[in-house]
Amino acid sequence: MEDQNDVFYKWGGGIDPEFLAIDRAYDEFLVTDDGREIVDAAAGAAVVNLGHSLDGLEDTISDQLEDVAYLSLSHFTNEAPERLADELTTRAPGDLNAAFFANSGSEANETAFKLARAYHRERGSPTKHQVVGRWQSYHGATLGALSASGNTSRRAAYEPQLQNWPHIPPAYPYRWQYDGTPEQQAVAAAGELETVIKQEGPETIAAFVAEPVSGSSIPAAHPHPAYYAEVRRICDEYDVLFIADEIMTGLGRTGPQFAVERFDVVPDILTVGKGLSGGYTPISAALVCDDIAETFAADRERSFDHGHTFSGNPLSAAIAADVLERYTDDLLATGRERGAQLEAELETLRDHPMVGDFRRAGAMIGLEFVADRETKAPFDPDLNVATRIYEHAMDRGVYTYPGSGSIDGVAGDHLMLAPPLTIGEDA
Ligand code: PLP
Repeated sequence: MEDQNDVFYKWGGGIDPEFLAIDRAYDEFLVTDDGREIVDAAAGAAVVNLGHSLDGLEDTISDQLEDVAYLSLSHFTNEAPERLADELTTRAPGDLNAAFFANSGSEANETAFKLARAYHRERGSPTKHQVVGRWQSYHGATLGALSASGNTSRRAAYEPQLQNWPHIPPAYPYRWQYDGTPEQQAVAAAGELETVIKQEGPETIAAFVAEPVSGSSIPAAHPHPAYYAEVRRICDEYDVLFIADEIMTGLGRTGPQFAVERFDVVPDILTVGKGLSGGYTPISAALVCDDIAETFAADRERSFDHGHTFSGNPLSAAIAADVLERYTDDLLATGRERGAQLEAELETLRDHPMVGDFRRAGAMIGLEFVADRETKAPFDPDLNVATRIYEHAMDRGVYTYPGSGSIDGVAGDHLMLAPPLTIGEDA
């Protein structure tokens, strides 16, 4: 029966008696039905970047409701999705000048993967269809997104339904075993992509997808910038599209608007979700470069037949456009400051015997727990160390994001802190 509860709680119905009922939320606080305040140090699932109960959204919503809430973007357009696309692509690096909207991170990534295949087909390479992912990554729950994902525990039950796409090791300096300087190690790690492309045959590879800074599977892990320079070189050499999955990192989470800016690399497709609406509506997007957009410009319907009923609906687009305007340079600077402050306040943990690695990228912190700091040996997964630490933090009124034993005994337990960028200095 326990297993059933695990499944059913996500369907609602209050089946899990352990779950706290949250009646309301404001700024970085969740308020339970019995009045207890919990600090939301994970911003939901790294979503609520601007905090809960944002002022002023009511007017945007009611104005849009008065105008038009829904249109099928297969046949119509509207000022709200146009404005959102403009705002997003203006902020995006390089020539990521077109936006394709969806409703979740998984859908945005599915869009990116299908776009990659369709792009190559249009350009006379119909056998290029595989998407190379990395182990210990997460790109979404739907079958294509899960196929590219390398989180073995989330994949396990569905293996027979997944595409047999190749994976390379993650960008995970703490556990790399390459020789040399951090830069040389980064180049060696990126070289795994070239090896896999050659093994599989470049004529089969459509794209490589990576979280520029890793999210839930290895929170805040990120390589020396040489890694992405090498990825870019390899992708260009073998005519492979580079997809940056910024569902979690996009919009200020790791410091700049987009995490790729940390590495000075421009992907061919960049996906955003979570922080795009900051949790105020389900919406996501795949931003594509000029070359891809132009490939489809002549006859979009024929060459990229894809979309979702609610893609870019005006109500969600208006909400996201309002939220997006709030990601100002000042706001991003505040996020960076709060991230640095949090790191400083947790500094004593760096030497804790259980903490193997303590990573930060902007306002995302990852703590990795190990049984032995020397050997980096993980804890026995049955001990559920991260979950137990999560529970202790909850007892003290702090919500964090745990990951336990998901990585085939390679890594193991970690905790992510990803508070709203606007979290109060004293929280
Ligand atoms: N990509 C990354 C990096 C994510 O962190 C997530 C969700 O956690 C997804 C994709 C999937 O997004 P969604 O749950 O909105 O489908």
